[in-house]
Amino acid sequence: MHGLKDKRVLITGGAGGIGLETARRFLAEGARVALLDLDPAACQRAREILPSLSGILLADVSDAKQVARAFGELDALFGGLDVLINNAGISIRHAFLDITPEEWRKVIEVNLNGVFYVAQQAARRMWAGAGGVILNMGSTNGLTGYHYYADYNASKAGVIELTRSMALELGPKVRVNAVCPGFIMTPMQEAEYTPEMRRSFEVKVPLQRLGKPEDVAALFAFLASDEAAFITGQTFVIDGGEIAGGLASQA
Ligand code: NAP
Repeated sequence: MHGLKDKRVLITGGAGGIGLETARRFLAEGARVALLDLDPAACQRAREILPSLSGILLADVSDAKQVARAFGELDALFGGLDVLINNAGISIRHAFLDITPEEWRKVIEVNLNGVFYVAQQAARRMWAGAGGVILNMGSTNGLTGYHYYADYNASKAGVIELTRSMALELGPKVRVNAVCPGFIMTPMQEAEYTPEMRRSFEVKVPLQRLGKPEDVAALFAFLASDEAAFITGQTFVIDGGEIAGGLASQA
């Protein structure tokens, strides 16, 4: 991809899953990459897997003060920021009738408030500097209804609308887009699902497989690169065709 070499990239939730694979991809593109994540042990593992990382910031994205402190550390590390991959997120599987106020708050605080706190810190630096790219992590769950994830679905729909609004206010200096994956098999899920469960998901997808973290990392790399210089305010679905047809696709 053109234009990623030496770019200063921050990836939240970068210690595992899609975030870690995205860090690997940006490093391979010649970028300088820092991670922001919660768990010190997971961060240590990430450093061992990717020794060329520039730095790791420990913070909970749902805590505005911790995020501000982490960006202070980032200033000392990079002296600015060119690309933000705003990826950290959580989900809880529970029926709508059972969601507690605490669970609702937790999911919204991490997935929506956290995305806002991190995006604002990044955008202020990009706005004051030479500009940049912000890529927010949405989900197909933010575009259509799914059982048992009402809080998560609402948080991701919020991320998509936040993305559009940011793109309006931050152009022409900062491009802002949302990436909406369907079912992506992270190492954690791979360990969790039986082959039968996996097959039952795969048959619902036109491309007949689940996504890989590398698939999403490639989309992030493209959207952050100069190849995507005229793209902002958009939502990119990467789901093997899962939501292409809705009910009409159920033969
Ligand atoms: P993952 O493997 O659980 O990775 C998420 C990372 O974010 C973990 O390292 C996690 O740390 C960290 N994190 C969680 N809460 C945080 C907080 N409050 N502050 C800072 N870091 C925090 O999940 P993933 O599947 O790669 O998902 C990454 C993103 O993609 C999420 O936003 C998710 O909603 C979205 N997504 C995933 C899929 C999918 O099928 N996998 C589909 C659509 C969208 P801990 O492990 O210590 O909690």
